[in-house]
Amino acid sequence: MKIARITAYALELPLREPYMLSRGRRFEGFDSTFIRIDTDEGITGWGEVCPWGSTYLPAFTGGVRAAVAEIAPHLLSLDPRQPDVITRVMDRALTGHAYAKAGMDYAIWDIIGKAAGLPISELLGGAESEAIPLISSIHVASPEAMLDDVEYWRSLGYRRHSIKVGEDVDADIARVRFLAAKRQAGEVFGFDANGGWAPWEAVRVLNAVGGLDAWFEQPCLTYEECLSVRSQTTQALSLDECMMELRDVVRAINDRACEVINVKLARVGGITKARPIRDLCMAFDIPMMIMCMAGTVINDSAVAHFVSTLPANRCVGTWSCQEMVTVDSAPGRGARNVSGSLTLPTGPGLGVEPDLDRLGEAIAVFR
Ligand code: MG
Repeated sequence: MKIARITAYALELPLREPYMLSRGRRFEGFDSTFIRIDTDEGITGWGEVCPWGSTYLPAFTGGVRAAVAEIAPHLLSLDPRQPDVITRVMDRALTGHAYAKAGMDYAIWDIIGKAAGLPISELLGGAESEAIPLISSIHVASPEAMLDDVEYWRSLGYRRHSIKVGEDVDADIARVRFLAAKRQAGEVFGFDANGGWAPWEAVRVLNAVGGLDAWFEQPCLTYEECLSVRSQTTQALSLDECMMELRDVVRAINDRACEVINVKLARVGGITKARPIRDLCMAFDIPMMIMCMAGTVINDSAVAHFVSTLPANRCVGTWSCQEMVTVDSAPGRGARNVSGSLTLPTGPGLGVEPDLDRLGEAIAVFR
């Protein structure tokens, strides 16, 4: 089997409402890229790459599309059933830009699954669960408005909430205290600064709310800053944005830098590169959150297959971007929220394909 054609499509994804993140970052919608890989044997694979704007991670839509144009010609005529070979070819064609390679990686796994007649989760070791706990994403606003947002997600069945902080220290202390007091029995709260605090700010907030049964995620931008916060507080920590590749996770485990690791599949380059990270975390009993950067049900479905392979007691959950945007690439199909859990798609490969009429004309074709 050989890769015969690679096609890219674009789809605008407006957010239901503007979203505010630490450091004054504001988002109104995203520009997603869909990757279709056709083989000479008539099997087609799909992937999606959708950065959360241009200021969340070192990733943006223009980078995705330029990287695909750089890499795609090198993949033509290769056997798509060899994800490690494909990954090395992509890394030889373009250094870095892991996020941009993820869409092609998902499409490869979709093809392998379809060729084998197996869902991707089975190729990755087998699903431990077919319903993965969903985590909301509560953007920065007044404490009362944030509680309203929590109530909205509760109404959709969510019991786990990622509450964004990382603005002003005193406001954050008030925000954390107010919301922590409203937590209901059985709910899990994490407070996520997305790198918004300086180390001294993080230490002030974490020590002011000391003893809280919640984790704090990515308090500062860099790993070294987060590690310095670690040494000055007893609050549980999660690391997210600074875990870019396997060696970052090795270092974090060696330094005992956190209790939880959050992996955005695309940030680390897709399924192929996330596999050893998952295996390492499981070997050291580190609970994980696994999610997409942003996007539609195509991305959520790739994540659902991957995260379903975690044992339940090591799976903190996942987040679903499809519930925050107003455009659906495959209505009624793929991984969906049912009572606060993301369901695992059925069928071989990814188990879902986008509607071609929604994607419109291709933006690039390589053959
Ligand atoms: Mg986070």
